[in-house]
Amino acid sequence: MSMRNLTILGTSSQHPTRSRNHGAYLFRFAGEGFLFDPGEGTQRQFIFANIPPTAVTRILITHFHGDHCLGLGSMLMRLNLDKVEKVHCYYPASGKKYFDRLRYGTMYHEVIEVIEHPIHEGGIVAEEENFTLEAHFLDHGVDNLGYRIQEKDERKFYKDKLKEAKVFGPDVRKLEREGQIETEAGLIKIEDVSYIRKGDAIAVVIDTKPCENALKTARDTRLLLAESTYLDSERDLARDHYHLTAKQAAELAKDAGAKELVLTHFSARYQDESAFVEEAGAIFKPVHAAHDFAVYPFPKMKNPL
Ligand SMILES: [Zn+2]
Ligand SMILES: [Zn+2]
Repeated sequence: MSMRNLTILGTSSQHPTRSRNHGAYLFRFAGEGFLFDPGEGTQRQFIFANIPPTAVTRILITHFHGDHCLGLGSMLMRLNLDKVEKVHCYYPASGKKYFDRLRYGTMYHEVIEVIEHPIHEGGIVAEEENFTLEAHFLDHGVDNLGYRIQEKDERKFYKDKLKEAKVFGPDVRKLEREGQIETEAGLIKIEDVSYIRKGDAIAVVIDTKPCENALKTARDTRLLLAESTYLDSERDLARDHYHLTAKQAAELAKDAGAKELVLTHFSARYQDESAFVEEAGAIFKPVHAAHDFAVYPFPKMKNPL
């Protein structure tokens, strides 16, 4: 079965600590590797996580504060060194100059094709065979994007029912194309031998005050990765610095109808993350406070019958 998980490569806000690297988050699903916000040191975090950097097919930058992008240049160089053919990069268009500086911060012989997607306005920014990528501007005082990836629905066939209905080999594709087929067992309708597996959605809402677009980004997600820089005791600080508290992140997950919440981007003032789970868990469950190298799987929904 193909991989479906979120690997946490870092969890700190602003500056790294002894136990937390700058943030970076790798979602592997829909046949791709989506790397969000490669902070400083992300390249080395891949080695500790035992994941080849070549797993990355798309890099998505929420905004150009250093803790979200300082590792972009080294990741691009590494992918170049590893002879990856191409990589897609998404970022807020107003940060183009920072993207260019990070990309060309040092000398190297560039052979990789970097396909840039500067995002000027919110909405659907990529429509691919397996997924749709949406981005929405959040409320962080600077241009900052929340991202949502919606996997496409898939038709799945029941093997035993196909056998019973005497649909074999290329006839399965024909049935998929035409919706029904005549076999030795009679007229077979596609819905009798298959079902639709609803695609999952994941979202990344990092660095924002509570806002409508955060809700829009997070709606009905299987897994929501949200920042909670502060606890609610520092709610005023969170507001002044355009951040969420653990409580606000939980409210977001609840209001959006998310199924699971992972918290990250913790202020260095907190050494123990258990208070984040406690605060958020009073409002929404399941919730996790991420730590560097944690892995959160989100396996495919089981056969409905
Ligand atoms: Zn940040
Ligand atoms: Zn920020």
